[in-house]
Amino acid sequence: MTGLSDSFQRPINYLRISVTDRCNLRCIYCMPSDGVSLMSHGDILTYEEIYTAALAAAELGIDKVRLTGGEPLVRSGLPKLIQMLAHIDTINDISLTTNGLLLSRYAAELKQAGLQRVNVSLDTLKQDKFEFITRRHNNLSDVLEGIETARSVGLNPVKINTVVMAGINDDELLDFAAKTIDEEWHVRFIELMLPVGVSTTASQFISVSNMRKRFKLLGELESCLPSVGNGPAKYFRFPQARGTIGFITPVSEHFCFGCNRLRLTSDGKLRPCLLAEDEIDLRQPLRSGISSNGLKQLIEEAVARKPLHHRLDEGYMPKDRPFTQVGG
Ligand code: SAM
Ligand code: SF4
Repeated sequence: MTGLSDSFQRPINYLRISVTDRCNLRCIYCMPSDGVSLMSHGDILTYEEIYTAALAAAELGIDKVRLTGGEPLVRSGLPKLIQMLAHIDTINDISLTTNGLLLSRYAAELKQAGLQRVNVSLDTLKQDKFEFITRRHNNLSDVLEGIETARSVGLNPVKINTVVMAGINDDELLDFAAKTIDEEWHVRFIELMLPVGVSTTASQFISVSNMRKRFKLLGELESCLPSVGNGPAKYFRFPQARGTIGFITPVSEHFCFGCNRLRLTSDGKLRPCLLAEDEIDLRQPLRSGISSNGLKQLIEEAVARKPLHHRLDEGYMPKDRPFTQVGG
């Protein structure tokens, strides 16, 4: 295995796979209230097609895979896909990003299939706000139970992803932070990205540096290493805390120079960058019986087409797809 690197000498070893564009929530920053037009089932890659693409990518040097959506747990049989991916020897990290609603139901099966860890998106600890942000009448307690079940079956660490929005959930920053002191919560605060057509506004943006000022009330944050992973978050903890706090700054301080990822959309497009419209189709070649070498060439082409950085600071936001199709 030679390893993949892009035109800027960044090593590329991480594939994020969106397994569905469907979701059981309608988060205000991610989806319009009436949802987005859905792909037909025939447009979505089968698990065998995803496996074939992942195998070719692994043979080129991808050793880390994350499953995302839409909401990955609404696609039936997800443990089967995990089991298939777990059979690829050189993939040594399989993780999942989920809204957590169905996690307690599937956690044990996912773990058994070979899933190693999970990130749960959770923006509030209050039931009424949970319904406001997700625009659905589900129980927050189901997500909290999902987090506990995941941990108890050994999907460790469970990381919590929290998108912070001024005037909506920024009043809960200290509540989340307190959870990292008393319990083994690993919370990552994420700056709001403002895709076109979604119901959040620039006035709701709050930068990580602004968030950090608010934590002073709880004490000094000490810098620390992540328990696992080498993603874009910078990690800290309060003295004596059982968990950690991470900050992810896609807007105020982009982390593109360390970008190590490729994305595969649920309809089979390889996307060199989340925040650029460029894509390379794998579905049609896969369905026409492309050889493994042909597939690898397409993957290498996608890697070569990775841009140096996104252009959010110039006000550029891709308009071709909602996050639900690319997986965030
Ligand atoms: N449904 C799953 C979930 O919510 O975890 C996986 C897909 S979701 C698109 C992946 C991540 O993207 C979530 O953590 C979500 O909070 C994040 N996300 C979606 N829209 C965002 C936005 N406008 N700004 C920042 N993060 C966003
Ligand atoms: Fe669904 Fe995740 Fe988007 Fe929320 S953030 S609407 S849970 S895909």
